[in-house]
Formats: sequence, structure tokens, C-alpha cells
Amino acid sequence: MLESQTSSTLTGDHACARCGYNLRGLTRGGLCPECAAPVGDSLRGNLLHHQKVFTEAAGKARALQSGEVDTVPPQSGL
Ligand SMILES: [Zn+2]
Repeated sequence: MLESQTSSTLTGDHACARCGYNLRGLTRGGLCPECAAPVGDSLRGNLLHHQKVFTEAAGKARALQSGEVDTVPPQSGL
């Protein structure tokens, strides 16, 4: 059923396709709390690409929130 699918919670790291916010803990049918983009939109497409985007976006977001720019070590492996 679609309802059970849209109400399931994201247990992994998923970056918002629009702003890069980590959508983990939100529901698939919900909206990004940062930019209000549909969570479902961010779940489509290439997951590996999203993982890369998340890594880069998370580094920027972390720097913005902490007020300092730190270097995010490159992710190794897959
Ligand atoms: Zn967003």
C-alpha cells in the first residue's frame, strides 16, 4: 500500500536534492524542514550520486552552523 510506503521513516542518510539537508528520520511522504522540498523527490535517482552530494553538502552545512570552515575527509570505499 502506498500509505505504508509514504509513512515509512528514513533510517539512512539521504540528502535533500534541493538543499542537501540530511533527511534521515523524516518520512518518505514528508517535506524537507529546511527548504520544504518533497522528501520523495530526493529519494529518486542515483543513490550513489546522492551519497556524494550529501557528503559535500553536509560539510558545507556543518561549517555554516558552526561558523567555521573545516575540511571534510574524503569518503573511502563505496
Ligand atoms: Zn531541503
